[in-house]
Amino acid sequence: MNTPPAMLYPELLAPFDMHAIMRDGQRLDHAEGASKPLRSRPEPQPRGAKVHGSRPIDQAEAAARLIAAPEHEKMHDERLWDLRQKRDREMHGIAEWEELRALASAIKEHTLTHLDQYLEQFEANALSNGVHVHWARDAAEHNQTVHGILKDHGAKSLIKSKSMLTEECGFRPYMASVGIEVIETDLGERIQQLDNEDPSHVVVPAVHKLRTDVAEVFARTIGTDPANSDVHYLAEAQREATRPLILAADAGMTGCNFAVAETGTFVVCTNEGNADLSANVPKLHIASIGIEKIIPRFEHLAVFVRLLSRSALGSPVTQYTSHFRGPREGGEMHIVLVDNGRSERLGMEEFWTSLKCIRCGACMNTCPVYRRSGGLSYGATYSGPIGLIIDPTFNQRKYSNLPFSSTLNGSCSNVCPVKINIHEQIYAWRRVLVEQHETPFAKRAEMKAAGELLSRPAAYRAAIAAADVALAHLPRWVIYNGLNAWGQHREVPHPPQQTFHSWYQANRGEKK
Ligand code: SF4
Repeated sequence: MNTPPAMLYPELLAPFDMHAIMRDGQRLDHAEGASKPLRSRPEPQPRGAKVHGSRPIDQAEAAARLIAAPEHEKMHDERLWDLRQKRDREMHGIAEWEELRALASAIKEHTLTHLDQYLEQFEANALSNGVHVHWARDAAEHNQTVHGILKDHGAKSLIKSKSMLTEECGFRPYMASVGIEVIETDLGERIQQLDNEDPSHVVVPAVHKLRTDVAEVFARTIGTDPANSDVHYLAEAQREATRPLILAADAGMTGCNFAVAETGTFVVCTNEGNADLSANVPKLHIASIGIEKIIPRFEHLAVFVRLLSRSALGSPVTQYTSHFRGPREGGEMHIVLVDNGRSERLGMEEFWTSLKCIRCGACMNTCPVYRRSGGLSYGATYSGPIGLIIDPTFNQRKYSNLPFSSTLNGSCSNVCPVKINIHEQIYAWRRVLVEQHETPFAKRAEMKAAGELLSRPAAYRAAIAAADVALAHLPRWVIYNGLNAWGQHREVPHPPQQTFHSWYQANRGEKK
């Protein structure tokens, strides 16, 4: 077993720490004062969806594997529901919350319908701030552009803060293929990088992992004690292992939360200050910005900053809201403005408002399907309700099953800070996919049969009556078997004594 890395800056240890664990008058570091593992043989982490080229992702299959791992399912569900509850508490503390949402939605819709003009204004102002501006039509152009900048500077290593856009572009695998080392500076994203997994959530990328999973990843990759899943120990070990790489990196990269047209500046919100490391440690700073991130004026920022962190994590503000204007002295700043399908989406009448998304993750936290299936079960960059309406715009066939992974309860639309009608767009995608024959034959046949039954009231009532009798009298094993997906994780409801229809006939219907 590898020895855990030594403290890089032992002098920075606080001289008095009320939480320190002491032995023989000496402060033990977290490794020695270890918390106990959850149990001797931790539950293995269920992995995400199986991805085979453009074959339709079977989200249900991957979700079933998470559900079969009770510790993971419970933790995932509770952790995300906790975020949803915190978001509600913050929301109730702001009297004008609904006005803020309406304003944010209006600003985004205005910007998206004048996008060309605001993008040009942003570019002109960024150029006058001394920034190099590049345009990328798609993921390949983005990756090649960044590679070109790095090559021009002889850069061999790059530190990078979390960015869903770079995930979308397959940036890390591309950089690996051209021999450039990428180091993620966000802790969750670094965990995912070391585990060779995509982020499972837009805000908390490793939320699906138990601390025992993280202990296993770090033991395998940076040589920590596999039996020690103390979170302080793991975080400290990661910091000690990554900090030297950060200090030695040739270039830094960030994403962007908001880009302001009138100033040519952009803002990155983080809770770990990791974007500031990427932007300020090396002299070369590259920012990848999706073209939908533009907002017209500086004053609009306040609307979005007030909504973002409250919706995402239920906290009033992110720990760091960093503004970037131009290169620091002796440095260089590049912005890559990326389309990658956004212009096309803007032209889709039913789906263009999905571009308003500020990637807060609130729709994911509230979604009962997402909470019990995990982000990696979607087999796509974007998961949860927002993923269901964005992913098919990238590849209709591959993501044709995803819009069916929703109860359409509307909770996602209710919590969305920019008022995207998510559940209506999910429903609209179902229609589009059925019309374009992108759904499996079995599902089409089932839907057709259901349509036939529902369009014949007499047949429907007879079927319901027969089902009620069957449910009341059949032996349990006939109802609860592998063919009944509904009964696999819950009890089938008891049939009522009287259906609404028969009650209505008896009490409100025409008397014969
Ligand atoms: S769709 Fe709305 S709730 Fe979901 S991530 Fe985007 S902004 Fe947040």
